[in-house]
Amino acid sequence: SGATVLDVRVAILGDEYVLLLAEDQTEIVRAQSVRSDFVANVSHELKTPVGAIRLLSEAIGDAADDPDAIRHFTQSLHKESERLTALVQDIMELSRLQGTDVVAAGRPVDLDRVIGEAVDRNRLTAESREIKIVVGGQVQAQAFGDADLLTTALRNLIDNAIRYSPPATRVGVGVREREGMIQISVTDQGPGISEEEQERIFERFYRVDAARSRQTGGTGLGLSIVKHVMQQHGGEVTVWSREGQGSTFTLSVPVMEDMDALDQAAEGTE
Ligand code: ADP
Repeated sequence: SGATVLDVRVAILGDEYVLLLAEDQTEIVRAQSVRSDFVANVSHELKTPVGAIRLLSEAIGDAADDPDAIRHFTQSLHKESERLTALVQDIMELSRLQGTDVVAAGRPVDLDRVIGEAVDRNRLTAESREIKIVVGGQVQAQAFGDADLLTTALRNLIDNAIRYSPPATRVGVGVREREGMIQISVTDQGPGISEEEQERIFERFYRVDAARSRQTGGTGLGLSIVKHVMQQHGGEVTVWSREGQGSTFTLSVPVMEDMDALDQAAEGTE
């Protein structure tokens, strides 16, 4: 854990010199163990819906002459396969992110479009829970990066805000510029998140209430996807929340003031 891992090589040069080469491998070893933790977690998470699908299909076979039971099991089967699909999509999104270099491939981003699309993609779930999404604010500054990834990040935050809030509440989406950063925030009137939990919710597969997260269709990967996207943009995602007082998640990306960088980005795409 706290230990440093060194790769040490010794070369003896003639009979007077000994050359000692030491390379710090701590990061490499740590990355390997993070990766195998991820594989272990993914396998565990996949086992739940896959196991349920197997049991349900057996149950359907056994319920041959009970139409009500068959209907019930079939509905559950459908739900479990949707869960599996969402999980596979999020896992693919995360692994795709690891191979992207947003700063190198980035372009000026139309933020109104990012916000519009992220809100649109959540409109149906919001309506089904009678939640109103209120959009406000405007910035002159130019953001830079990958519009699709920023849309995914914002969509995940709005999706969470809707899923964790009581019905018939409001979700606010606002944009503003502050200290060289463009901030897009999502505010809900949900249950809020305690300070201890706030430190952990960005970890892969971490959920405050696993049963509730599953029930509402969560995969436990949403916020870690958001965190990766923002890191790729030289930005960050932060949370403000108090239990019982709702939550505000904020995406920040640096303002793109530098026209040289803009030109270079344009050249890079030619
Ligand atoms: P999930 O798929 O479980 O929603 P996320 O990574 O998106 O996974 O979120 C991790 C956990 O953080 C959730 O399970 C939930 O407990 C908590 N959380 C996220 N967003 C909110 C919110 N807007 N209000 C309350 N809790 C939230």
